[in-house]
Amino acid sequence: MPDQSSTRRTVVIGNWKMHKTGTEGAALAAGIVAGLRPGRAEVAIAPPFTALAPVADAIRGSSVALAAQDVFHEREGAFTGAVSAPMLAAASCSIVLAGHSERRHVFGDGDEDVRRKALAVLDAGMRPVVCVGETLEQRDAGQAENVVREQLEAAVGGLSDSQLAPLAVAYEPVWAIGTGRTATPDTAEAMHRVIRASLAALAGSEAAERTPILYGGSVKGDNAGAILSGANVDGLLVGGASLRADSFLDICHAAG
Ligand code: PEP
Repeated sequence: MPDQSSTRRTVVIGNWKMHKTGTEGAALAAGIVAGLRPGRAEVAIAPPFTALAPVADAIRGSSVALAAQDVFHEREGAFTGAVSAPMLAAASCSIVLAGHSERRHVFGDGDEDVRRKALAVLDAGMRPVVCVGETLEQRDAGQAENVVREQLEAAVGGLSDSQLAPLAVAYEPVWAIGTGRTATPDTAEAMHRVIRASLAALAGSEAAERTPILYGGSVKGDNAGAILSGANVDGLLVGGASLRADSFLDICHAAG
């Protein structure tokens, strides 16, 4: 398999979860745009749906991309409270998370939901970031690798290399999200290797080599560089530390 680790662009996505009104979000986005130094990393922010429009205005003309935290797989219809992929594309999103662990564990999204979401995002011409990761119980039981393999296969198995061209994957161990407990760089790299090998088995080595695999789980400015040192760690999905411009910018700059 050719080594493309040096050609995959580093991707850093800030996931604001259920934080920030439109006004607050626009101010935070403006601070990020103002402080971001040009670099190798592709930077995106994922505000809540209600802040997408003001944040889109605040980042217009900058290198910062707009991402959404979730999507519903249908295009339109009687689905009260839902937002579709074409709606997100029309709202200037180019990236959409699918299967974040809070969607899986708080809202009950199952593997089939994650697959439908990823497909809807691809159909609408955007990049899905398929999130996978094991619970602490699964890790302690020695099942971590199987869990992420199965989640990945359920989400993208059977799709062709060309269908998967925009795909990114995020490895987010559930025990590390919002807990202050980060995977060690070695653990992250080992799990990213497993994910890349699974992608190769599912979609071929070219798809596996070009797909960015992000790590998420209590990333901060002072651990970002070490986590990114793994050859298969291509970026970061950042929650809590993306809620302030200074801490998010520290991470973006650590990413190059
Ligand atoms: C996340 O929301 O995807 C996340 C990793 O959160 P945190 O950085 O707060 O652990």
